[in-house]
Amino acid sequence: MTKLCLDVIGDPIGHSKSPYIHETVLQELNIPYEYRKVKVQKGQLDSYLDEVTVLGISGFNLTMPHKVDVLPYLDFIDDDAKFFNSVNTVKVKDGKLLGYNTDGQGMLIAMKEKGFEPLGQNIAILGAGGVASTISVKMALEGAEKITIFNRTPAAAEAISQNVLKSTGKTISTAKLDCNILASSLTEYNILINCTPLGMQGTDCEFEDLSFLEALKSGALVYDLIYNPVETTLLKSAKSLGFNTLNGFGMLIYQGLLADEIFLERPLNFLYFKEKIEYKLKNLKNF
Ligand code: NAP
Repeated sequence: MTKLCLDVIGDPIGHSKSPYIHETVLQELNIPYEYRKVKVQKGQLDSYLDEVTVLGISGFNLTMPHKVDVLPYLDFIDDDAKFFNSVNTVKVKDGKLLGYNTDGQGMLIAMKEKGFEPLGQNIAILGAGGVASTISVKMALEGAEKITIFNRTPAAAEAISQNVLKSTGKTISTAKLDCNILASSLTEYNILINCTPLGMQGTDCEFEDLSFLEALKSGALVYDLIYNPVETTLLKSAKSLGFNTLNGFGMLIYQGLLADEIFLERPLNFLYFKEKIEYKLKNLKNF
């Protein structure tokens, strides 16, 4: 069998968990492979793409700062990637570069697995960075009733709101990320998604006060996209108040498995692989 050559590119790239996900799948399926982490600095995509042709790379995953910059180089862009204006997976086929974005779908699969769907729900999104932008569009496309983005910098939330309106026709609101504002606003919401690094291992930032959670509707889902630690203080507090909770492991793993389905052009047993990958990630030294 021919060796499958895959990469993940970005800068920084050392921290990427991508190899653990893809190597688990390829090893289980007995597919000969090479999966490289390649540091590609901003502005260096041209020379990396030359290398793709010379080395016969079959596909690559992308992280910061290339998810948007790669768009002009692509011969095909799938619908989600077009809506998000962002690509996390490129398959090389017959010399053509085919671009996809599996982040939104990965997040959605994890949410559905927990028994929640965006359709008809009121969703509060905390943060307005890259992942919040993707999730806002995905939740709008999936028929959320109401979406509000709460962010420290209101202009960033407003920019996402404009993009959601342009790409999906849905109006979403924005507000300042402030514990008092959250406490008085969340009474209408049954899904809260944290897209900030507040509470993430290795950062020294944390929510100052989590009492705003009490305002959420009974039976709400509190979804923290952080996966390290496995249970953030946000999720601990939400659980102690009786809410449903979900961390970011599912999204991380499912976006990778969806990318593997694209690379391999075959369906995968997600539950089987998720269990194996989650075990591997949780047992990593220095995770
Ligand atoms: P990003 O583009 O850097 O955006 C970070 C957002 O968080 C910005 O809106 C920023 O607000 C806000 N923020 C940062 N520090 C803050 C603080 N101290 N107080 C209040 N707000 C703060 O990051 P991203 O790529 O969107 O990722 C966000 C988080 O999502 C990551 O930390 C990661 O844990 C998680 N994530 C998970 C997955 C997964 O697969 N599970 C995938 C991607 C990301 P300003 O606009 O005011 O700067």
